[in-house]
Amino acid sequence: MKPAPFAYLRPECLQDALEAYADHADDAKILAGGQSLIPLLSMRLAAPTMLIDINRLTELSYVHTDASGVRFGALTRHAQIEHDKRANRAQPLLRKALRSVAHPTIRNRGTTVGSIVHADAAAEMPAVLRLLEGSVTLRSHEGSREVGAEDLFVGPLETSLAAGEIATEIFMPALPAGAGVAFEEISRRRGDYALCGAAAIVQTDPGGAVTSVKTGYLSVSETPLVLDLSDAFDDGELSQTNLTGAGELASAAVQPETDIHATADYRRQLAGVLTKQVIEQAHNHASARTIGGSQ
Ligand SMILES: Cc1cc2nc3c(=O)[nH]c(=O)nc-3n(C[C@H](O)[C@H](O)[C@H](O)COP(=O)(O)OP(=O)(O)OC[C@H]3O[C@@H](n4cnc5c(N)ncnc54)[C@H](O)[C@@H]3O)c2cc1C
Repeated sequence: MKPAPFAYLRPECLQDALEAYADHADDAKILAGGQSLIPLLSMRLAAPTMLIDINRLTELSYVHTDASGVRFGALTRHAQIEHDKRANRAQPLLRKALRSVAHPTIRNRGTTVGSIVHADAAAEMPAVLRLLEGSVTLRSHEGSREVGAEDLFVGPLETSLAAGEIATEIFMPALPAGAGVAFEEISRRRGDYALCGAAAIVQTDPGGAVTSVKTGYLSVSETPLVLDLSDAFDDGELSQTNLTGAGELASAAVQPETDIHATADYRRQLAGVLTKQVIEQAHNHASARTIGGSQ
């Protein structure tokens, strides 16, 4: 199928994009990498009357890293972040998760900000933003505001962006000392959306005891799900008993659906298995960072 007819604007600067969006807030869509939007247009699941292409706003293509974390702009492609050494030293979960986003060709074009505001609960980066408690900067012609990840995702493919707002920047906090991260997913073929995916951040104290365990999930809930499983490790140990308890808690908490790819029961089981794997890997990562002083 071909897209329904639409007007096309390609502004040269953010201010022009914001003004155009303000004038057509109800019927325009922002076009970033197009890796999600163009298929939707072609299938006529979306039919905006105007596309505002932000690909000439090169000022929004950057990865900035400092001690607090990583900031990247609306035109930063997945691959730019995946290959940015400083960003991945500061927050190693970025590359660990980005490697599972589709295929390299799609990561070369698709933007991480676009993926996050597209808000697909089967996508990797919305789950990462939620788990890391990152934030999004939103700009409109009236001003700017920052929204925390917990307030961004309000429903399936739905965010709290207001009409006329462009997400200009995302911030992902740096990994604290003594913490480790991991990401795993199961998909039918490499590059497909996951049947279930899980990420973990495990915090340890200087003596190596586990002090906090959080996990994030994709494809098992309507919006990216985060669980605090610290209580399962209240003795500070990463024992098999505690891991099994954490896996059971995760299986009980997720709310997957059956579709043509997998049953809800299978996804629930995967959530439990992946939870144990990512917590163990994140703990190993924390130990390696502590011993090696590396990421
Ligand atoms: C074959 C295939 C497989 C894929 N597999 C995966 C996968 O496994 N995991 C995964 O996470 N993704 C996958 N994707 C999607 C890919 O990651 C996209 O890049 C991403 O979802 C959207 O980024 P984009 O820049 O292409 O956004 P676009 O497609 O341009 O836009 C997506 C939506 O976000 C809005 N938008 C974009 N940028 C902004 C902004 N700055 N401010 C406000 N609104 C904005 C658009 O209006 C649109 O509604 C796949 C895509 C394809 C084609």
